[in-house]
Amino acid sequence: MSALVETASLVADRINALEESATLAMSKKSREIAAQGHKVINLSIGEPDFKTPKHICEAAKAAIDAGFHSYTPVSGIPELRKAIADKLKRENNLDWKPENIVVSTGAKHSLANVIQCLVNPGEEVIILAPYWVSYSEMVKLAEGKSVVLDGAFENDFKVTAEQIEEAITDRTKIIMFASPNNPTGSVYSEAELRAIAAVVARHEGVFVLADEIYEYINFTDKGHFSIGSVDEIRDRVITVNGFAKGFAMTGWRLGYIAAAKWIADAVDKLQGQVTSGTNHIAQRAAVVAWEDMSAPESMKLAYERRRNLVVGLLKEIEGFKVNVPEGAFYAFPDVSYYFGKSDGTTTINNADDLAMWLLETAHVAMVGGGSFGAPNCIRLSTAASDEALVEAVARIKAALATLK
Ligand code: PMP
Ligand code: GLU
Repeated sequence: MSALVETASLVADRINALEESATLAMSKKSREIAAQGHKVINLSIGEPDFKTPKHICEAAKAAIDAGFHSYTPVSGIPELRKAIADKLKRENNLDWKPENIVVSTGAKHSLANVIQCLVNPGEEVIILAPYWVSYSEMVKLAEGKSVVLDGAFENDFKVTAEQIEEAITDRTKIIMFASPNNPTGSVYSEAELRAIAAVVARHEGVFVLADEIYEYINFTDKGHFSIGSVDEIRDRVITVNGFAKGFAMTGWRLGYIAAAKWIADAVDKLQGQVTSGTNHIAQRAAVVAWEDMSAPESMKLAYERRRNLVVGLLKEIEGFKVNVPEGAFYAFPDVSYYFGKSDGTTTINNADDLAMWLLETAHVAMVGGGSFGAPNCIRLSTAASDEALVEAVARIKAALATLK
């Protein structure tokens, strides 16, 4: 091909229009700086620093030895879909049969599938911000229109039912959010979710995409509440969950939806043309996940302890406004105090600039809030050792003190 051809122009418009995932991009950049010989502390990617519980690993080994090497049904093996349906009944008061469950290659895949299956070009998806980076890009890929509603810092970064009511139009198709939330760690209470459900109930044709991937990392005494358990709207809620966070299984790539049969069937049809059923061995292993819940429980306690540690340390940094996350494993301070300041060469204009500057000068990798719909904040993952977290915050504090 001629060197004169600009290859980017050969890439399809829909991909050119897509942003690169900021979490993955920062993680890549952090590896590059580490490869130059710097001692980087990588708090950019949200990934448990624990190993997958032993009983799940053993089940995977047994699955290999037993010869489970074939394709599976597109929506997943019956044993896993049943185990998921049982879990949803037992823990979430969700009444779905195995036929309502579709297992996919990570919760990310599950979310993307649902959006592809439900959103027509031009239809609106209300996204509660701050939101996880991939939501708006998934909507873009489906040619939908994101309508982003901001959760105020003062309201624990949560969007109210009134805000949602005001934003609904006759083009609204889905309301999507994660609770516990990435990046804020906020947890929508049962009362808040019931208020949102009441709004949805009044608007037929509006669906809720409830991302519950951080369900087991919830520090509130009330625990997790699934909006799909509200009777009036249960057929219009698609619950998404997975194994990556609660069971420390990010690399196993296993997520699922629970939804009305026609939605599950549509996802099955899409998946049947794009990926087929997900990894058979991982599915066999996941069947036993809930047989021993001691690891998710002890990981939660560790995340809670680190949350307390990091929030305490961040509050000591001049100018940082720090909210207390009630779940997940992130801290999300407002860093706008530093906007306009400079080290003499580089001026910090926004949180994305600050994240890049801190990576280059303090060698701590974090993600600027721009891609989470919160340009004043910066996200640090607290899924790291106490020593790494203490050292990271000390470096951040020392570097920021040099900005004028
Ligand atoms: N939703 C949220 C809010 C997440 O943070 C993640 C993390 N990657 C996912 C979904 C996707 O999880 P998975 O690794 O199962 O694809
Ligand atoms: N959910 C994680 C994060 O937010 C994993 C990275 C990703 O899939 O975007 O960092």
